[in-house]
Amino acid sequence: MNERDMDAETLSAVLLSIEDQRSWDARAELVRTREIERAAIALGDELLAARARLCQINMQMRCGDVAAAAEQIWHVHQWAMEHDARRLLARTHLVWSAIHLHLGDAEQGLEHAVLAVELLDDDATEHMQVWHRTKLADALYFAGDMDAARVRYTQAEELALRLGSPALLCMLNNYAYVESSIGNQALAEEVCGRLQHLAAEWDIPLEPAFLDTIGSIQVSNEHYAAAAETMRLCLERHAEGRWDDANDMAQYLVTLAQAQRGLGQFAAAQASLDEARRQCVERDLGESVVRVHQEQAELHAAGGDFEAAFAAHKTFFEAYRQQQSLQREARSRTRQAMFETAEARQEAERFREQARRDPLTGLHNRRYVDERLPALIRTDPQLTVALVDLDHFKQVNDQLSHDVGDQVLVRVAQVLAREVAAACPEGFAARMGGEEFLVVLPDTAVPRAHALLDDLRRTIRNQHWAPITRHLPVTVSIGVAGLTDAPQDAQVPLLSTADGHLYAAKHGGRDRVVSTADLHDCVGHASAA
Ligand code: GH3
Ligand code: MG
Ligand code: MG
Repeated sequence: MNERDMDAETLSAVLLSIEDQRSWDARAELVRTREIERAAIALGDELLAARARLCQINMQMRCGDVAAAAEQIWHVHQWAMEHDARRLLARTHLVWSAIHLHLGDAEQGLEHAVLAVELLDDDATEHMQVWHRTKLADALYFAGDMDAARVRYTQAEELALRLGSPALLCMLNNYAYVESSIGNQALAEEVCGRLQHLAAEWDIPLEPAFLDTIGSIQVSNEHYAAAAETMRLCLERHAEGRWDDANDMAQYLVTLAQAQRGLGQFAAAQASLDEARRQCVERDLGESVVRVHQEQAELHAAGGDFEAAFAAHKTFFEAYRQQQSLQREARSRTRQAMFETAEARQEAERFREQARRDPLTGLHNRRYVDERLPALIRTDPQLTVALVDLDHFKQVNDQLSHDVGDQVLVRVAQVLAREVAAACPEGFAARMGGEEFLVVLPDTAVPRAHALLDDLRRTIRNQHWAPITRHLPVTVSIGVAGLTDAPQDAQVPLLSTADGHLYAAKHGGRDRVVSTADLHDCVGHASAA
């Protein structure tokens, strides 16, 4: 069935099988998960779309486009954070860890791997339980803490065994590889033994990459006949074409050549190596070619041709250096791209913040209010707001100057911000336009808000205004509206109630606070002083 014809549940199941399995063909899965994302968007299923997106990012990274992966993972992370999507967040950190490790940043790689495990809960799949612990162990190894890595591998192994999880095979492969690469060959071969035993018991054919790990470890332990046998099986499986990338064959051929050299089969070893070299040239495999040259030097030496061995060694060293510098360049390009993305995000964040501020007073603006207020109205039954309007402000402009008017606005804004912060830290003041401000007081019932706003009114009138406005007083009228006195469910009624009360305050003589309670009594009794 085509992704476009699937319902959300089916799509989710398809996606889960991609999320929870080792993929052989990252490119094909990139296309597939892109289709799933499209279908999810059409269905309006945001979580499904975000999951599909993360899969794509993972595949992008595996296809070598680390910069693109790094750039996009921010969005998924943000979405998962905002929507408290814990399982997705755990997976996001795992991919993030892989990106950092790819860039050679072991510390960050470890940090994300730790989070990927910490975020596991009952909702996590069995695969995640095993796999995230395995990746944490890998990250610990990269960070140089092999003891801690061993603890995690063991944990993952026990868990996987208990659950009968197929992720166990890959876990054992990684563990064996890591022990071998720190020179612990005996232990590495022991782990390989468990891997082979399990594969046989569960009747799962070992994939070529795992066989290559086993073969290499057998070579290190000088078990050449076993290694040659392992590598023959490896190449056989590889030829089936359903396991791994065609590019991997060169690596397998080098391991086979090592085993053949150990057995004294120099001609066979040379043939394997020649084929490996041919593949490297054909496919432009920089990394593998380094291993080819290295093994070529060993092979010449084993055959007693030390002059050729020396020449091959020089070639190896040159290729190695070139490869290192290419890798460094690629990493620094990716890091640069990541840095630029982070910078652009900060820039966007600054811009967003700026767009929600009033440039004259620095207070929040109406746009900010429009964004914040609806949620507050929904969630806070004790919310009170107040419109604060300067009295006869036109006179300041007309009799003094527009510039003095601005100074007054700035000063009033300062008082508002300071007093609101002191009286109600959760609250805020905003400039709605002109000489009109809004004070938002969460968790403050109208009577307390009224008292508080009346103090505010007095503080404004009692400012030392003379140096700015000379003879002109500066006062404000305030209209209050709260959810406690008349529950409302939209922003407009609350603000229009406040506006009605403000009108009453103006009408009643200005320099006063009016709330519902006053209207019940008499407008004239509003608290003016
Ligand atoms: P009332 O007591 O009824 O509110 O009288 P008012 O004069 O304060 O009200 P009115 O709405 O008649 O005038 C508001 C004035 O505020 C008019 C406008 O020029 C001035 N104003 C609006 N924005 C600014 C600003 O950014 N800077 C300055 N200096 N003046 C502004
Ligand atoms: Mg006014
Ligand atoms: Mg006004």
